[in-house]
Amino acid sequence: MTEETVTIIGAGIGGLCAALGLVRAGRQVEVYEQAPVLGEVGAGLSISPNASLGLGYLDMLDYMEAESDKPLWQYTRHGLTHEELVAIDRRNAVEQYDATYYQIHRADFHAELVRRVELEQPGCIKTGYRLKQLSRAPGGFGLQFDNGETVVADILIGADGLRSEVRGALFSDDQPQFTNYVAWRALIPANELPAWYAQPASHVWLHAGKNCVTYPIRKQKLINLVAFTQTEDWVEEGWAVEADPEEFIAHFEGWHEKPRTLIEATRGRKMNRWGLFARTPLDCLTDDNVALLGDAAHPMLPWFGQGASSSIEDGVVLARCFEEAGDARAALALYNKTRVDRVKTIQRESNLGGERLHKLDPYTLRDLPVKNEDSLGIFKYNPAQVEIA
Ligand code: FAD
Repeated sequence: MTEETVTIIGAGIGGLCAALGLVRAGRQVEVYEQAPVLGEVGAGLSISPNASLGLGYLDMLDYMEAESDKPLWQYTRHGLTHEELVAIDRRNAVEQYDATYYQIHRADFHAELVRRVELEQPGCIKTGYRLKQLSRAPGGFGLQFDNGETVVADILIGADGLRSEVRGALFSDDQPQFTNYVAWRALIPANELPAWYAQPASHVWLHAGKNCVTYPIRKQKLINLVAFTQTEDWVEEGWAVEADPEEFIAHFEGWHEKPRTLIEATRGRKMNRWGLFARTPLDCLTDDNVALLGDAAHPMLPWFGQGASSSIEDGVVLARCFEEAGDARAALALYNKTRVDRVKTIQRESNLGGERLHKLDPYTLRDLPVKNEDSLGIFKYNPAQVEIA
């Protein structure tokens, strides 16, 4: 195998999982991250069984077992009445999928990925490097960063999220499209809420095109809240901005006291909101010596909680392709062949999931066949064992 350095743009969950897999496979890696300091937002993150199998490949299950919560049930309920519409039993996740469904603090998980990558290859993550321009150069790429530095990359991985520079320069000039959905997020100390909210379960309340999701994290010490509303336009500059809890609370006027208690607990707290954007699915994730992964390749709406999970799958399969192939270009070609149909399916189904959640009367969900990650086969995928195409 040739020993070209793999240059990764972006130290989000996708870029770091790829970095960890690659350094463990013996590759030299450099990760360039625009943020001056590494970190993630304070929010909960669901890691579904398909991604947990990938974390097994990365030897991270000891950490996940020690630090995560595990939902035993997942309930969908009516927002006005709290009536149960769908209940999914997750107690048998290990028997069903050979893997656990985890829920974890996003910043904790990210920090652990950073720690493990740095342990394997100290100094390989460089912060304060925002890629602002790139061009093909003989045998690779010339990268220009806004701190004035330039770097030549042999093999390039664009893990730089929704507004990927790598994608824009080398793959597609499509622009992220606002989907009319806004996500609101907060974390509330469990001891400030009734004990009911700290049960090992997740709840989704639905009504009138809005929904509110909750589950405990940090061993039931924090209650994660993420809620979705709709609006015609998104005028904020950034994709995540500080939000006014009073404006958030007003969206859920008249909801049942169970979601309402949680929603009102955001009063006076720090909250964020995100505009949710979509991009056209790509037919190819690679081009000779460059590949995209995670949100740079396949941003998706969060209805199945698969954005980070699929970026973990990407990182693991990419590393396996490098182990399997004779050289880096062959590895990237294998990565594309192995991943492209899978990510297109998840992206399409995730985006369709919103129709069902928000366009139907919630009561119809009781009578319709359940269409979710289980019925779509999303959880059955094992990135650590899937046949490399
Ligand atoms: P990102 O996390 O966006 O990371 C990209 C990195 O690249 C960032 O660190 C960024 O600073 C850096 N970067 C960007 N541009 C440049 C540049 N020019 N130069 C250098 N660095 C750059 N997924 C789940 O699996 N489970 C969930 O429960 C879940 N919940 C979600 C809830 C909401 C409300 C939302 C909006 C998303 C949710 N997701 C969830 C999706 C998930 O957050 C993303 O899909 C995932 O974080 C993508 O990871 P990534 O590494 O590809 O991209």
